[in-house]
Amino acid sequence: MENYKSLTHIQTDIKQDKITLRGLVLHYLGNIEQGKHLNAFIEVFADEALQQADQIAEKIKSGKAGKLAGMVIALKDNICYKNHQVTASSKILAGFTSVFSATAVEKLLAEDAIIIGRLNCDEFAMGASNETSFYGPVKNAADETRVSGGSSGGAAVAVQANMCLVALASDTGGSVRQPAAFCGAIGIKPTYGRVSRNGLLAYASSFDQIGPITNSMSDMKLVMEIISGKDESDATSSSKPVDTYTKMPALGKRKIAYIKECLYHEGIDPEITKATLAVIDKLKQDGHEVTEVSFPYLDFLVPTYYVLTTAEASSNLSRFSGLMYGYRSQSATDLESTFRKSRSEGFGAEVKRRIMLGTFVLSAGSYEAYYTKAQQVRRLVQEKTNEIFALYDFILSPTTPTTAFKFGEKSDNPIAMYLADIFTVHANISGNPAISVPMGTHSNGMPMGVQLMAKHFCEGEMMQLAETI
Ligand code: GLN
Repeated sequence: MENYKSLTHIQTDIKQDKITLRGLVLHYLGNIEQGKHLNAFIEVFADEALQQADQIAEKIKSGKAGKLAGMVIALKDNICYKNHQVTASSKILAGFTSVFSATAVEKLLAEDAIIIGRLNCDEFAMGASNETSFYGPVKNAADETRVSGGSSGGAAVAVQANMCLVALASDTGGSVRQPAAFCGAIGIKPTYGRVSRNGLLAYASSFDQIGPITNSMSDMKLVMEIISGKDESDATSSSKPVDTYTKMPALGKRKIAYIKECLYHEGIDPEITKATLAVIDKLKQDGHEVTEVSFPYLDFLVPTYYVLTTAEASSNLSRFSGLMYGYRSQSATDLESTFRKSRSEGFGAEVKRRIMLGTFVLSAGSYEAYYTKAQQVRRLVQEKTNEIFALYDFILSPTTPTTAFKFGEKSDNPIAMYLADIFTVHANISGNPAISVPMGTHSNGMPMGVQLMAKHFCEGEMMQLAETI
């Protein structure tokens, strides 16, 4: 069977009896088995996916199937799926079973998507290379000596290596877009509040969004249309009506800004700058107005992100105490040692580093100097971003300063690792939607990605423009 890149193609072939849904699921299961060494999946729901396939095949025959009939999806291991384990790739949640499904998952199931398994990620989505996972790193299918990116490494590789059609992941500072760029896939971070966070294990609640990774823009539009919208279970979800992303009017000529500090940043690979300039030329040829602008706060983005997200994480992760969920230390003797030992043994080094950093920036003596200050910078970034969007429709930049790096290359140096997110954290700080689409291959053989950011709730137009790229 061929490796399908879009649902439309799959649905046509099912209709014409060229393939069966069961055969398709078996094909993905075969690819998962063949790519086992890539370590993208933590758990495969083989029997269940086959059962779902048979049920949905019946629905297709009787003309009652949902919009996603034929779509095989996998979930990042921080998205809840009722009666299935969810661990955020952490020992502290080993063996924990979810008692409900995330709203986004319910919406996908209601449209007859098939869920094939649970995907590896950085522990609690904290990382940019999938090297902090309790289950080990994920290999990039384009070069197995290189990282998948993170934190949604398993999600990007599963889509890259045709182990599923679509992956549902989460993005707090780039975790959908950066691995998508490293693996040659499409990844979106919706506007904050566009997709319900109900059932997403929280890392930094004012930054987190669920977002899909796909191989085609048509799948991206369809999945986004289905998972977006108001949800009573997430007070921060927006009641703004969702555009019909699959049927948007043609996009006219637009105004696009690109940030000069991104393109000429000292840490950027010159080939990525060159490829981005080629995209800019192409957009100009297509009749769009593309202008260089300055964004003076670029170097403040990563520090602001790490002060605020670690503060939120230190609070969100305090619930993992050894009492209510998952792992409890065997050698605990009283309440305090239960907390201390369970957390010391259950969390990995990166998560502990962030909990300590977050606790520090929130502590009485440091709150003003770090937490309040970072909130003020967040406001400045939002204002400056709004200023740009008052004049332009989109902001373009590379998704990442480099292509996927080698294993171990940055894992001893947190600062170097954190800089991998320099272009992606902007959208999470400001709440804007952003998408990464492939922009060719580097001379080292690795995929590169270009990012578009749009005005709040303009993901429809953003996907339209991204499609032309
Ligand atoms: N790489 C970033 C971090 O380490 C982003 C993670 C994310 O978006 N979940 O925090």
